[in-house]
Amino acid sequence: MSKIIKATAPAKVNLVFEVGGIQPDGYHPVNSLFLALNLREELTLVNGETGTGVSIYVHGQSLPERHIQAVPTDETNLVYKVAQALASHHNIPTPDLQVDILKRIPVAGGMAGGSSDAAAMLVALNEFLFQEQGIARLSTAELAALGAKLGSDIPFCLYGGLAIGTNRGEQIQELPDLEFESNWLLCISNQGLSTPLVFHKFDELSTGNSFNDLGSLRITSAQELAAVMSNDLEGAALALIPALAHLKEQLEELGALRAMVSGSGPTIAALFDSAARCHEVVELLKAEGIFALVSTGPSAGARLES
Ligand code: ATP
Repeated sequence: MSKIIKATAPAKVNLVFEVGGIQPDGYHPVNSLFLALNLREELTLVNGETGTGVSIYVHGQSLPERHIQAVPTDETNLVYKVAQALASHHNIPTPDLQVDILKRIPVAGGMAGGSSDAAAMLVALNEFLFQEQGIARLSTAELAALGAKLGSDIPFCLYGGLAIGTNRGEQIQELPDLEFESNWLLCISNQGLSTPLVFHKFDELSTGNSFNDLGSLRITSAQELAAVMSNDLEGAALALIPALAHLKEQLEELGALRAMVSGSGPTIAALFDSAARCHEVVELLKAEGIFALVSTGPSAGARLES
């Protein structure tokens, strides 16, 4: 009988994203306060036919079709890279697998969609190898160390909740969860933005910023959360897509406590003090041809689902 393993993993928003100056290796040190959202990718693993390798199928839910079409299904998909990395860690051949990804996170939107798939795959394959081949499960910290080699946001997608990410964002310090549910409207741009392009623009505009102690922030309400939100990459993203500045203003006029570019953009994450207002604004935007989603945070890290 085929073994079926299902896992989900969250999207992220960077509540605070501080970016230092470019280093000789071409990377930027970051200091980020991450929040996981209940917009979760769902990944299902089934044994593949012998000798077929890793086959990837991508479907969408509530996302424009172009997002699904933009996801590669070959060896460049992060899920494929996870299969290779975990197999190589255990010194075994890459297993034959059929992987089904149900995408809810916008692609190339600065919300860690690919990293979330990778985190779900790490958790699912870890369990699959234990059940099918008796290989001892790796801990979350071990999975995070493997994931960090493939993408800086993968460790946070494994931990979820609220956390600080340093170095390239992959070194995670977990924080106690927010004690209130935060309501988010995520406004999806028609254009994608490549993360390296945004960092390149950042270097043209700035020499990098200093870091604050994010662990000492006090966030007990949506209002306090709105007051701490900041993103050093916002200027660069707005320079690349000037129309985003107008959208930000529009969202704040429509009642957002704060609207901000999410990570490297171009998604705009707007914090509201009620879910009802989020839904009303989604409808208003839809009438203007602007696509938006509603979500809440915090959300758990990557986990198995029965
Ligand atoms: P981040 O917020 O971590 O910078 P992002 O959310 O902006 O990332 P992704 O949705 O992860 O961006 O996609 C970036 C690119 O990665 C895509 O354009 C696609 O070519 C590639 N990619 C590889 N694997 C995946 C995957 N499983 N899902 C989506 N994109 C993937």
